[in-house]
Amino acid sequence: MKKIILTGDRPTGRLHLGHYVGSLKRRVELQNSGEFEKIFIMIADAQALTDNADNPDKIRDNIIEVALDYLSCGLDPSKSTIFIQSQIAELCELTFYYMNLVTVSRLQRNPTVKAEIQMRNFETSIPVGFFTYPISQASDITAFKATTVPVGEDQEPMIEQTREIVRKFNSVYGETLVEPDILLPDNAACLRLPGTDGKAKMSKSLGNCIYLSDTAEDVRKKIMSMFTDPGHIKVEDPGKIEGNTVFTYLDAFCRPEHFAEFWPEYSGLDELKGHYQRGGLGDVKVKKFLNSILQAELEPIRQRRKEFEKDIPGVYRMLKEGTEAAREVAAATLADVRKAMRINYFDDAELIASQAEKFGNQA
Ligand code: ATP
Ligand code: MG
Repeated sequence: MKKIILTGDRPTGRLHLGHYVGSLKRRVELQNSGEFEKIFIMIADAQALTDNADNPDKIRDNIIEVALDYLSCGLDPSKSTIFIQSQIAELCELTFYYMNLVTVSRLQRNPTVKAEIQMRNFETSIPVGFFTYPISQASDITAFKATTVPVGEDQEPMIEQTREIVRKFNSVYGETLVEPDILLPDNAACLRLPGTDGKAKMSKSLGNCIYLSDTAEDVRKKIMSMFTDPGHIKVEDPGKIEGNTVFTYLDAFCRPEHFAEFWPEYSGLDELKGHYQRGGLGDVKVKKFLNSILQAELEPIRQRRKEFEKDIPGVYRMLKEGTEAAREVAAATLADVRKAMRINYFDDAELIASQAEKFGNQA
Protein backbone atom coordinates (compact mmCIF):
# COMPACT_ATOMS: atom_id res chain seq x y z
CA MET A 1 0.00 0.00 0.00
CA LYS A 2 1.11 3.57 -0.71
CA LYS A 3 2.40 5.35 2.37
CA ILE A 4 0.77 8.72 2.87
CA ILE A 5 1.20 11.24 5.70
CA LEU A 6 -1.36 13.69 6.99
CA THR A 7 -0.65 15.92 9.95
CA GLY A 8 -1.04 19.53 10.94
CA ASP A 9 -1.35 22.26 13.51
CA ARG A 10 -3.95 24.70 14.71
CA PRO A 11 -3.11 28.31 13.79
CA THR A 12 -3.75 29.59 17.31
CA GLY A 13 -0.24 30.97 17.69
CA ARG A 14 3.32 30.64 16.45
CA LEU A 15 4.75 27.14 16.73
CA HIS A 16 6.80 26.19 19.76
CA LEU A 17 9.35 23.63 20.90
CA GLY A 18 6.55 21.16 21.79
CA HIS A 19 5.40 21.13 18.18
CA TYR A 20 8.98 20.87 17.02
CA VAL A 21 9.92 17.77 19.02
CA GLY A 22 6.40 16.29 19.03
CA SER A 23 5.86 16.37 15.30
CA LEU A 24 7.51 19.02 13.15
CA LYS A 25 11.11 17.80 13.28
CA ARG A 26 9.97 14.26 12.49
CA ARG A 27 7.89 15.45 9.56
CA VAL A 28 10.87 17.07 7.98
CA GLU A 29 12.90 13.87 8.40
CA LEU A 30 10.07 11.79 6.94
CA GLN A 31 9.67 14.24 4.09
CA ASN A 32 13.32 13.91 3.24
CA SER A 33 13.40 10.13 3.68
CA GLY A 34 11.64 9.64 0.35
CA GLU A 35 9.63 6.78 1.91
CA PHE A 36 6.28 8.45 1.47
CA GLU A 37 4.31 8.76 -1.70
CA LYS A 38 2.52 11.91 -0.51
CA ILE A 39 2.78 14.22 2.47
CA PHE A 40 -0.07 16.53 3.43
CA ILE A 41 0.46 19.20 6.06
CA MET A 42 -2.69 20.97 7.15
CA ILE A 43 -3.12 24.32 8.85
CA ALA A 44 -6.21 23.44 10.88
CA ASP A 45 -7.96 26.81 10.96
CA ALA A 46 -11.49 25.35 10.98
CA GLN A 47 -10.56 23.23 13.98
CA ALA A 48 -9.00 26.26 15.67
CA LEU A 49 -12.30 28.11 15.23
CA THR A 50 -14.12 25.44 17.26
CA ASP A 51 -12.80 27.05 20.44
CA ASN A 52 -12.02 30.51 19.05
CA ALA A 53 -15.27 31.32 17.26
CA ASP A 54 -15.33 34.83 18.71
CA ASN A 55 -11.76 35.59 17.71
CA PRO A 56 -11.44 34.97 13.97
CA ASP A 57 -8.64 37.49 13.54
CA LYS A 58 -6.38 35.48 15.83
CA ILE A 59 -6.75 32.49 13.51
CA ARG A 60 -6.47 34.61 10.36
CA ASP A 61 -3.25 36.26 11.55
CA ASN A 62 -1.61 33.06 12.71
CA ILE A 63 -1.94 31.20 9.42
CA ILE A 64 1.07 33.00 7.98
CA GLU A 65 3.01 32.52 11.24
CA VAL A 66 2.49 28.75 11.10
CA ALA A 67 3.36 28.66 7.40
CA LEU A 68 6.60 30.58 8.09
CA ASP A 69 7.43 28.20 10.95
CA TYR A 70 6.91 25.25 8.60
CA LEU A 71 9.14 26.64 5.92
CA SER A 72 11.84 27.70 8.34
CA CYS A 73 11.95 24.19 9.86
CA GLY A 74 12.51 22.70 6.41
CA LEU A 75 9.10 21.64 5.16
CA ASP A 76 9.46 21.98 1.44
CA PRO A 77 6.39 22.71 -0.72
CA SER A 78 7.95 20.78 -3.61
CA LYS A 79 7.86 17.64 -1.45
CA SER A 80 4.98 18.30 0.96
CA THR A 81 1.53 19.69 0.16
CA ILE A 82 0.82 22.45 2.67
CA PHE A 83 -2.83 23.56 2.76
CA ILE A 84 -5.52 25.40 4.70
CA GLN A 85 -8.31 23.24 6.10
CA SER A 86 -11.26 25.65 5.81
CA GLN A 87 -10.74 26.07 2.07
CA ILE A 88 -11.61 22.42 1.46
CA ALA A 89 -15.40 22.18 1.78
CA GLU A 90 -15.24 18.42 1.12
CA LEU A 91 -13.87 17.94 4.64
CA CYS A 92 -17.09 19.35 6.15
CA GLU A 93 -19.22 17.05 4.10
CA LEU A 94 -17.25 14.01 5.22
CA THR A 95 -17.64 15.13 8.84
CA PHE A 96 -21.39 15.38 8.40
CA TYR A 97 -21.61 11.77 7.27
CA TYR A 98 -19.15 10.44 9.85
CA MET A 99 -21.23 12.05 12.63
CA ASN A 100 -23.80 9.33 12.07
CA LEU A 101 -21.23 6.69 12.94
CA VAL A 102 -20.21 8.03 16.37
CA THR A 103 -22.21 8.19 19.58
CA VAL A 104 -22.34 11.12 21.99
CA SER A 105 -21.11 8.89 24.82
CA ARG A 106 -18.11 7.83 22.72
CA LEU A 107 -17.16 11.48 22.21
CA GLN A 108 -17.59 12.15 25.93
CA ARG A 109 -15.04 9.46 26.73
CA ASN A 110 -12.22 11.10 24.75
CA PRO A 111 -9.59 11.92 27.42
CA THR A 112 -7.85 14.69 25.44
CA VAL A 113 -11.12 16.48 24.72
CA LYS A 114 -12.09 16.07 28.40
CA ALA A 115 -8.83 17.67 29.53
CA GLU A 116 -9.16 20.47 26.96
CA ILE A 117 -12.74 21.23 28.03
CA GLN A 118 -11.51 21.56 31.60
CA MET A 119 -8.56 23.72 30.59
CA ARG A 120 -10.84 26.08 28.67
CA ASN A 121 -13.41 26.27 31.50
CA PHE A 122 -16.20 25.36 29.09
CA GLU A 123 -18.05 23.41 31.80
CA THR A 124 -21.66 23.19 30.58
CA SER A 125 -21.26 25.56 27.63
CA ILE A 126 -19.19 23.34 25.33
CA PRO A 127 -19.53 24.41 21.69
CA VAL A 128 -20.89 21.50 19.65
CA GLY A 129 -18.17 22.06 17.05
CA PHE A 130 -15.46 21.72 19.68
CA PHE A 131 -17.05 18.60 21.14
CA THR A 132 -17.11 16.96 17.72
CA TYR A 133 -13.67 18.00 16.50
CA PRO A 134 -12.33 14.43 16.76
CA ILE A 135 -14.83 13.54 14.03
CA SER A 136 -13.65 16.38 11.84
CA GLN A 137 -10.10 15.20 12.43
CA ALA A 138 -11.15 11.78 11.13
CA SER A 139 -12.31 13.55 7.96
CA ASP A 140 -8.98 15.32 7.57
CA ILE A 141 -7.06 12.09 7.90
CA THR A 142 -9.28 9.88 5.76
CA ALA A 143 -9.83 12.46 3.02
CA PHE A 144 -6.19 11.99 2.08
CA LYS A 145 -6.22 8.24 2.67
CA ALA A 146 -3.41 8.80 5.14
CA THR A 147 -1.63 5.71 6.43
CA THR A 148 0.62 7.57 8.87
CA VAL A 149 -0.06 10.45 11.25
CA PRO A 150 3.06 11.80 13.01
CA VAL A 151 1.81 13.67 16.09
CA GLY A 152 2.37 14.11 19.83
CA GLU A 153 0.89 11.83 22.44
CA ASP A 154 -2.17 14.06 23.08
CA GLN A 155 -3.42 13.04 19.64
CA GLU A 156 -3.62 9.32 20.41
CA PRO A 157 -7.37 9.36 21.23
CA MET A 158 -8.06 11.21 17.96
CA ILE A 159 -6.31 8.58 15.89
CA GLU A 160 -8.16 5.84 17.76
CA GLN A 161 -11.46 7.61 17.04
CA THR A 162 -10.50 7.86 13.37
CA ARG A 163 -9.71 4.16 13.21
CA GLU A 164 -13.10 3.32 14.72
CA ILE A 165 -14.89 5.51 12.19
CA VAL A 166 -12.97 3.89 9.33
CA ARG A 167 -13.84 0.39 10.53
CA LYS A 168 -17.49 1.30 11.03
CA PHE A 169 -17.71 3.03 7.65
CA ASN A 170 -16.08 0.15 5.83
CA SER A 171 -18.25 -2.45 7.54
CA VAL A 172 -21.49 -0.59 6.79
CA TYR A 173 -20.76 0.78 3.31
CA GLY A 174 -17.97 -1.46 2.01
CA GLU A 175 -14.18 -1.15 1.95
CA THR A 176 -13.54 2.54 1.13
CA LEU A 177 -11.45 4.28 3.77
CA VAL A 178 -7.92 3.63 5.02
CA GLU A 179 -7.15 2.98 8.69
CA PRO A 180 -4.25 5.23 9.76
CA ASP A 181 -1.44 4.52 12.21
CA ILE A 182 -0.15 7.06 14.69
CA LEU A 183 3.58 7.77 14.61
CA LEU A 184 4.75 8.97 18.01
CA PRO A 185 8.18 10.45 18.78
CA ASP A 186 10.72 7.74 19.77
CA ASN A 187 12.11 9.88 22.55
CA ALA A 188 9.88 9.74 25.67
CA ALA A 189 10.62 13.38 26.59
CA CYS A 190 9.19 14.46 23.22
CA LEU A 191 5.83 12.73 23.57
CA ARG A 192 4.50 15.63 25.57
CA LEU A 193 7.08 18.33 26.17
CA PRO A 194 6.24 20.23 29.38
CA GLY A 195 5.96 24.01 29.49
CA THR A 196 8.71 26.25 30.85
CA ASP A 197 6.54 26.54 33.99
CA GLY A 198 6.75 22.76 34.55
CA LYS A 199 3.09 22.26 33.60
CA ALA A 200 2.28 18.99 31.86
CA LYS A 201 2.27 20.32 28.29
CA MET A 202 3.84 23.22 26.49
CA SER A 203 0.79 24.73 24.86
CA LYS A 204 -0.03 27.95 23.08
CA SER A 205 -3.16 28.20 25.20
CA LEU A 206 -1.17 28.07 28.46
CA GLY A 207 1.42 30.72 27.62
CA ASN A 208 4.34 28.55 28.75
CA CYS A 209 6.09 28.24 25.42
CA ILE A 210 9.45 28.79 23.83
CA TYR A 211 8.54 29.71 20.28
CA LEU A 212 10.63 28.73 17.28
CA SER A 213 10.59 32.40 16.25
CA ASP A 214 11.57 33.81 19.66
CA THR A 215 14.70 35.94 19.58
CA ALA A 216 17.91 34.53 21.07
CA GLU A 217 17.47 36.86 24.04
CA ASP A 218 13.84 35.76 24.64
CA VAL A 219 14.90 32.13 24.57
CA ARG A 220 17.71 32.80 27.04
CA LYS A 221 15.39 34.65 29.43
CA LYS A 222 12.77 31.92 29.30
CA ILE A 223 15.37 29.26 30.02
CA MET A 224 16.84 31.23 32.92
CA SER A 225 13.42 31.50 34.58
CA MET A 226 12.47 27.90 33.90
CA PHE A 227 10.94 25.61 36.49
CA THR A 228 13.52 23.24 38.05
CA ASP A 229 13.48 21.41 41.40
CA PRO A 230 11.90 23.69 44.01
CA GLY A 231 13.77 21.75 46.74
CA HIS A 232 17.17 22.51 45.16
CA ILE A 233 17.85 25.80 46.91
CA LYS A 234 21.57 25.88 47.63
CA VAL A 235 24.13 24.62 45.14
CA GLU A 236 25.25 21.90 47.61
CA ASP A 237 21.70 20.51 47.97
CA PRO A 238 20.96 17.25 46.19
CA GLY A 239 18.68 17.92 43.20
CA LYS A 240 15.85 15.99 41.62
CA ILE A 241 15.83 15.09 37.94
CA GLU A 242 12.29 13.81 37.77
CA GLY A 243 9.81 16.61 37.03
CA ASN A 244 12.74 19.00 36.55
CA THR A 245 11.89 20.73 33.29
CA VAL A 246 15.47 21.68 32.48
CA PHE A 247 16.46 18.01 32.50
CA THR A 248 13.37 17.00 30.54
CA TYR A 249 14.44 19.49 27.86
CA LEU A 250 17.97 18.08 27.95
CA ASP A 251 16.47 14.61 27.44
CA ALA A 252 14.61 16.00 24.44
CA PHE A 253 17.39 18.06 22.83
CA CYS A 254 20.81 17.06 24.11
CA ARG A 255 23.03 14.91 21.89
CA PRO A 256 26.40 13.44 22.94
CA GLU A 257 28.32 15.90 20.74
CA HIS A 258 26.85 18.84 22.68
CA PHE A 259 29.08 17.92 25.63
CA ALA A 260 32.23 18.03 23.53
CA GLU A 261 31.14 21.35 22.09
CA PHE A 262 29.67 23.19 25.10
CA TRP A 263 30.62 21.39 28.33
CA PRO A 264 33.58 19.04 27.96
CA GLU A 265 33.93 18.66 31.77
CA TYR A 266 31.20 16.04 31.54
CA SER A 267 31.26 12.88 29.46
CA GLY A 268 27.51 12.81 28.93
CA LEU A 269 24.01 13.37 30.26
CA ASP A 270 24.16 10.51 32.80
CA GLU A 271 27.23 11.95 34.44
CA LEU A 272 25.65 15.42 34.55
CA LYS A 273 22.46 14.04 36.08
CA GLY A 274 24.50 12.08 38.65
CA HIS A 275 26.31 15.23 39.76
CA TYR A 276 23.06 17.18 40.04
CA GLN A 277 21.46 14.44 42.11
CA ARG A 278 24.46 14.24 44.48
CA GLY A 279 24.48 18.01 44.96
CA GLY A 280 27.10 20.62 44.15
CA LEU A 281 25.79 21.60 40.73
CA GLY A 282 23.79 24.82 40.41
CA ASP A 283 20.72 25.31 38.20
CA VAL A 284 22.25 28.29 36.42
CA LYS A 285 25.09 26.21 34.97
CA VAL A 286 22.70 23.57 33.68
CA LYS A 287 20.43 26.24 32.24
CA LYS A 288 23.37 27.86 30.43
CA PHE A 289 24.19 24.51 28.88
CA LEU A 290 20.57 24.05 27.77
CA ASN A 291 20.63 27.57 26.36
CA SER A 292 23.70 26.77 24.23
CA ILE A 293 22.02 23.65 22.88
CA LEU A 294 18.72 25.34 22.08
CA GLN A 295 20.37 28.35 20.48
CA ALA A 296 22.35 26.02 18.21
CA GLU A 297 19.13 24.25 17.20
CA LEU A 298 17.05 27.41 16.76
CA GLU A 299 19.51 29.78 15.11
CA PRO A 300 19.32 28.20 11.61
CA ILE A 301 15.51 28.13 11.90
CA ARG A 302 15.46 31.85 12.80
CA GLN A 303 17.77 32.65 9.88
CA ARG A 304 15.64 30.77 7.37
CA ARG A 305 12.50 32.46 8.73
CA LYS A 306 14.03 35.88 8.05
CA GLU A 307 14.50 34.88 4.41
CA PHE A 308 10.93 33.62 3.97
CA GLU A 309 9.54 36.73 5.70
CA LYS A 310 10.87 38.78 2.79
CA ASP A 311 8.23 37.38 0.42
CA ILE A 312 4.91 37.03 2.26
CA PRO A 313 2.79 37.09 -0.95
CA GLY A 314 4.93 34.18 -2.15
CA VAL A 315 4.06 32.22 1.02
CA TYR A 316 0.33 32.83 0.42
CA ARG A 317 0.76 31.68 -3.19
CA MET A 318 2.41 28.49 -1.95
CA LEU A 319 -0.53 27.91 0.42
CA LYS A 320 -3.05 28.51 -2.36
CA GLU A 321 -1.34 26.04 -4.67
CA GLY A 322 -1.09 23.46 -1.89
CA THR A 323 -4.75 23.94 -1.04
CA GLU A 324 -5.82 23.47 -4.65
CA ALA A 325 -3.82 20.27 -4.95
CA ALA A 326 -5.16 18.94 -1.63
CA ARG A 327 -8.73 19.78 -2.59
CA GLU A 328 -8.54 17.54 -5.66
CA VAL A 329 -7.49 14.60 -3.50
CA ALA A 330 -10.24 15.24 -0.93
CA ALA A 331 -12.83 15.56 -3.72
CA ALA A 332 -11.82 12.16 -5.14
CA THR A 333 -12.23 10.55 -1.70
CA LEU A 334 -15.59 12.26 -1.22
CA ALA A 335 -16.74 10.82 -4.55
CA ASP A 336 -15.76 7.33 -3.31
CA VAL A 337 -17.61 7.96 -0.05
CA ARG A 338 -20.77 9.18 -1.78
CA LYS A 339 -20.71 6.17 -4.04
CA ALA A 340 -20.22 3.77 -1.12
CA MET A 341 -23.05 5.49 0.78
CA ARG A 342 -25.32 5.22 -2.24
CA ILE A 343 -25.93 8.97 -2.44
CA ASN A 344 -24.34 9.46 -5.84
CA TYR A 345 -27.77 9.64 -7.55
CA PHE A 346 -26.94 11.68 -10.61
CA ASP A 347 -23.78 9.74 -11.50
CA ASP A 348 -25.66 6.45 -11.41
CA ALA A 349 -27.32 5.69 -14.75
CA GLU A 350 -28.32 2.26 -13.49
CA LEU A 351 -30.31 3.76 -10.63
CA ILE A 352 -32.24 6.05 -12.97
CA ALA A 353 -32.89 3.25 -15.45
CA SER A 354 -34.12 0.83 -12.80
CA GLN A 355 -36.41 3.43 -11.22
CA ALA A 356 -37.76 4.28 -14.65
CA GLU A 357 -38.50 0.63 -15.25
CA LYS A 358 -40.20 0.34 -11.86
CA PHE A 359 -42.56 3.15 -12.83
CA GLY A 360 -43.23 1.60 -16.20
CA ASN A 361 -41.41 4.20 -18.30
CA GLN A 362 -40.76 3.16 -21.89
CA ALA A 363 -37.05 2.59 -22.62
P1 ATP B 1 -3.64 24.63 21.28
O1 ATP B 1 -3.30 25.01 22.68
O2 ATP B 1 -4.24 25.69 20.45
O3 ATP B 1 -4.37 23.30 21.20
P2 ATP B 1 -1.18 23.24 20.93
O4 ATP B 1 0.02 23.93 21.45
O5 ATP B 1 -1.78 22.11 21.70
O6 ATP B 1 -2.24 24.36 20.62
P3 ATP B 1 -1.77 21.93 18.43
O7 ATP B 1 -1.85 22.73 17.19
O8 ATP B 1 -3.03 21.48 19.10
O9 ATP B 1 -0.86 22.74 19.48
O10 ATP B 1 -0.88 20.63 18.18
C1 ATP B 1 -0.17 20.41 16.95
C2 ATP B 1 0.76 19.22 17.03
O11 ATP B 1 1.81 19.44 17.95
C3 ATP B 1 0.10 17.91 17.49
O12 ATP B 1 0.69 16.86 16.77
C4 ATP B 1 0.46 17.82 18.93
O13 ATP B 1 0.49 16.47 19.37
C5 ATP B 1 1.87 18.41 18.93
N1 ATP B 1 2.17 19.05 20.21
C6 ATP B 1 1.62 20.18 20.69
N2 ATP B 1 2.13 20.47 21.89
C7 ATP B 1 3.05 19.49 22.17
C8 ATP B 1 3.94 19.22 23.27
N3 ATP B 1 3.99 20.03 24.31
N4 ATP B 1 4.73 18.13 23.21
C9 ATP B 1 4.70 17.29 22.14
N5 ATP B 1 3.89 17.48 21.08
C10 ATP B 1 3.08 18.57 21.10
MG1 MG C 1 -3.77 21.21 21.00
